[in-house]
Amino acid sequence: MDYTTKLSRQINDLPRSGIRDFFELVIGRTDVISLGVGEPDKPTPWPIREAAIRSLEKGQTTYTSNLGLESLRIAISEYVENLFRVKYDPKTEILVTVGVSEALDIAYRAVLNPGDEVIYHEPCYVSYSPSIKMAYGVPVVVETREENQFALMAADVEKAITPKTKVIALNFPTNPTGGIMPPEELEKIAQLCVKHDLICFTDEIYCELLYDNRQHKSIVEYPGMKERTVLLHGFSKAFAMTGWRLGYACAPAPLREAMMKIHQYCMLCAPIMSQMAGLEALKLGAAAFEDMRQSYEQRRNFVVAKLNEMGLHCFNPGGAFYVFPDIRSTGLTSKEFALGLLERKSVAVVPGNAFGVAGEGFVRCCYATAPELLEKAMALMAEYVTEIRNEKAKAI
Ligand code: PMP
Repeated sequence: MDYTTKLSRQINDLPRSGIRDFFELVIGRTDVISLGVGEPDKPTPWPIREAAIRSLEKGQTTYTSNLGLESLRIAISEYVENLFRVKYDPKTEILVTVGVSEALDIAYRAVLNPGDEVIYHEPCYVSYSPSIKMAYGVPVVVETREENQFALMAADVEKAITPKTKVIALNFPTNPTGGIMPPEELEKIAQLCVKHDLICFTDEIYCELLYDNRQHKSIVEYPGMKERTVLLHGFSKAFAMTGWRLGYACAPAPLREAMMKIHQYCMLCAPIMSQMAGLEALKLGAAAFEDMRQSYEQRRNFVVAKLNEMGLHCFNPGGAFYVFPDIRSTGLTSKEFALGLLERKSVAVVPGNAFGVAGEGFVRCCYATAPELLEKAMALMAEYVTEIRNEKAKAI
């Protein structure tokens, strides 16, 4: 059978995730130190796991409301208000989802008509452009640059706005750069959203993981923004809960309602045991992740220093748990660099172009990895960079 004619054109044309493609090479190799996958090295804190076990012991194995447990939505409302100083009604403005991944997907499907344009920034998380295309939208890329610490410049956003623009999608701190937004630039982007009557999606999945005593500010906090913002957040990163598949969207009631319609038909609800775990996570709040955050900050300091020492210029990111060193001085492409590092030294990093064209010349290293492994990985990477430089010098 000729499957190309049987498959949806929309899906046929989608590229596979560059991260997953790269990690097919790593699967089954026990000798590899992986700085590749973006998840915490520690399991979910024990009291959170225990809450899920308790719920299973009680036989809580049913569906929940499509919206998610009311107790969880109340806890989300309080947690979000505490983080962002914005209040959401648990009954009408919050939807519990299967991770931020689902929340993003249904948010696009809820608002886009074919041909609507979405402005987003690259380098970015691999699902951004595909999520827009799967909802028949048109992705419009604005690059973030190292010279601006990978912040999004309002002037660049303004140039990308057309009469077809419907959504601006933000993710700060950013995967893969760790970049954060200076408040004055964020405020200007908020003003653009209001001026051009745009919707804003803000993916806050790394907002708890900030360093150097920074305080997070979300675009939703600026005047005129709550009514036009879909705030996406979840448990995967700060609470080390990637496998639980739990997230949420906070949005004005009509937007939440549209998202809920899609969610109820395609997902029904998030798993009840994950929701019970999430409730416990929010009860604990920062107490659940502050130790991890501090440890990531130390690891960030170590990794940034080591990369710069070996001559790979590395910007010091303000948040998340990634560094994005510039590897252009080696004369290799991102992919050549990453493949060579894997083959010669058994260390896995992700080529920067997996996160968009703007990521070429960089690689992403996730430092939510055990400190002793990070030390080994940095030593091996330094050896690799020296070897490459020596080989280049000999060839000249
Ligand atoms: N957004 C960003 C920016 C991410 O980095 C990730 C995961 N790597 C997600 C969303 C997906 O998160 P979740 O596990 O909540 O689906």
